[in-house]
Amino acid sequence: MNFNFALIGGDLRNIRLAEMLAKEKNQIYLYGIEKQKQLEENPYIKYCDTLKEAIDFCKIIIGPIPFSRDGMFLNTNQNVKKISIKEILNTMEKQILIAGNFSEEFEKLAKENKFQIIDLMKKEELAILNAIATAEGTIPIMIEETENNLQDCNILILGFGRIGKVLASKLKGLANKIVCTARKQEDLAWIEAYGYEAIKTEEFYLNLNQYDIIINTIPKMILTKEKLKMVSPKSLLIDLASKPGGIDFEAAKEKKIKTIWALGLPGKVAPESSAKYIKKIIDEEIKKERKILT
Ligand code: NAP
Repeated sequence: MNFNFALIGGDLRNIRLAEMLAKEKNQIYLYGIEKQKQLEENPYIKYCDTLKEAIDFCKIIIGPIPFSRDGMFLNTNQNVKKISIKEILNTMEKQILIAGNFSEEFEKLAKENKFQIIDLMKKEELAILNAIATAEGTIPIMIEETENNLQDCNILILGFGRIGKVLASKLKGLANKIVCTARKQEDLAWIEAYGYEAIKTEEFYLNLNQYDIIINTIPKMILTKEKLKMVSPKSLLIDLASKPGGIDFEAAKEKKIKTIWALGLPGKVAPESSAKYIKKIIDEEIKKERKILT
């Protein structure tokens, strides 16, 4: 069965997703997405001039991951006109909105406005698969931003969740030493079982000056001004945690420590794979919601 989809905002992932959905002969309405020749020429894809035009004939609206970066505007490419969250709330009627990382406030407003939202980032399988691109996207940053071979580097990974696990496994064999932190005993045991060095997260600052690269995946302020005093100025810091992040960037700058906040890596380094994973989830959701959608 074919559907009309509105795709609003986002990065290359939504562009690839539009192409995949159009390939299956679904009708796609785009808004807040940069013009691309191959999309304009696709008979199943239409660029719309207004949000209303894009969503009027669609029961499914697909937004970006994350849905918004500032709580006020939809997350879009810088080159397109900003779309306010207010406008989306005012324009939507009974459609299903699928996107990633909705704020609690938006979830509440959606409930009040009686439309259904599906948060892609609450789908564990997608969050895990996203970790692949995030980990793969971190490695070239490490290579480009340090003057040493990774083989000579001691690397600290803060947090042993989805990204921490995948990143450590991809660095195995590349780095001189990999140290991972976790707060659960079970995770600490897994870290050892995989052959890395384990440190309790609460003790991560011990010997902090021995690392050439420190990567944070913990979504909480962890590398505070105080802790940064123990970091070697020669270290490279990479924060992968979503806003507000886990590194005091100002303090790192003051100390002249090279610090990179690498956000949105799946959309940058693997839009096609990421779109494929998102589409799989959307196909499953459509199966579940078939009664409402037909
Ligand atoms: P995750 O699986 O939840 O892992 C988070 C890790 O941080 C876990 O080890 C967790 O420990 C630990 N942690 C959480 N809160 C903590 C606290 N208060 N104190 C100490 N440790 C704490 O998350 P993930 O999927 O790896 O994602 C990590 C971050 O990256 C998130 O902010 C996510 O939004 C972001 N992200 C970034 C990108 C990118 O492109 N940069 C892409 C995807 C996701 P426990 O297991 O004990 O809770």
